[in-house]
Amino acid sequence: MKILAKDKVAELLEKIAQQAEVYVPMAIEQGSGFYPWTEDNKNQPLLLDALNVYNSPKYILFPQTERMYDLKQQGQDLSIDQTHEDSSPRVIFGVRACDARALRSLDDVFLTRGFEDSFYKARRDNVTVIGNACYAPGANCFCEAMGVDLTEPEADVILRDAGNDGYIWESKTETGDKLTRAVAEFLNDKETKAPEAKSFQTQVDYDGVAEKLKGMFEHPLWEKMAEPCVNCGACTYICPSCHCFDIQVKMWGDSGYRFRCWDSCMYAEYSAEAGGGNPRPSGVERFRNRFLHKLEFFSERYGYSLCTGCGRCTIVCPAGVRITDIIKAIKEVDSSVGL
Ligand code: SF4
Ligand code: SF4
Repeated sequence: MKILAKDKVAELLEKIAQQAEVYVPMAIEQGSGFYPWTEDNKNQPLLLDALNVYNSPKYILFPQTERMYDLKQQGQDLSIDQTHEDSSPRVIFGVRACDARALRSLDDVFLTRGFEDSFYKARRDNVTVIGNACYAPGANCFCEAMGVDLTEPEADVILRDAGNDGYIWESKTETGDKLTRAVAEFLNDKETKAPEAKSFQTQVDYDGVAEKLKGMFEHPLWEKMAEPCVNCGACTYICPSCHCFDIQVKMWGDSGYRFRCWDSCMYAEYSAEAGGGNPRPSGVERFRNRFLHKLEFFSERYGYSLCTGCGRCTIVCPAGVRITDIIKAIKEVDSSVGL
């Protein structure tokens, strides 16, 4: 098997950075997340031992704000001047299984079912993902319950931490094979073993929840569960799989540009309609929509949950809302009560 010695990681990143923009998990002033491996950032320690960094790699494929195209207006006519599709090569290093699953959900949303988002596609076609297998889930992790194998991130290459022996380097795709050939000088042949995965500290039973939710749209449980929520939207911004966006235009005289930016279903404006109506005017309705989308609607459409069990929303919520408590409450409640 191929092994990457731990003291060769920085050199390997240097080599990859000659051909592509490299993103690594590290903590900088903005908090921990995936940041470019640049001269300014290189002296920060890599967080390859940390489980989830605060910010997921979502923004690398789906930036929080993205300029789409420049516009020119002549009378009643609008013309597109320049389209800003970004196909620069990028490598994301050290992605955990929950975040790799979230990237798959973005792929499904932006690239399948008869529609391709060209801005997302330009980035996605040029991204190589290096996963980092987990063997000791953290206090808020519950990916396994959501159908994610913590030791098998859906990535082009998987790193497995074999302690003093280094990282086992396993290529999983043709893109991974190409990268492996490009960095062969840093990989040794050696036999070693990956550790055994430890048990999850957070136990969640999601089995049957998506099906049960089909009959719970009007259930009084939503009122109770939504009570602490202040609709701040923090859970949606931090979530690696939330993908809603708004498109806005900025014009100066007869020229300007269109851009998109992340939006949140927790905000009243999100579902506001031009005619003045709003199908989800209350916080409870918006809260219900978020969790139905995560736990029911997405799985009906794509066959797996939109929650990857990363635990981030539990950590950031100022009101103590925990998606694991919500799953448990749905699982236990009598779905016919109050209907
Ligand atoms: S972070 Fe908590 S309080 Fe804020 S919108 Fe999400 S569930 Fe509600
Ligand atoms: S809903 Fe919460 S636990 Fe699930 S993927 Fe999003 S941030 Fe992670």
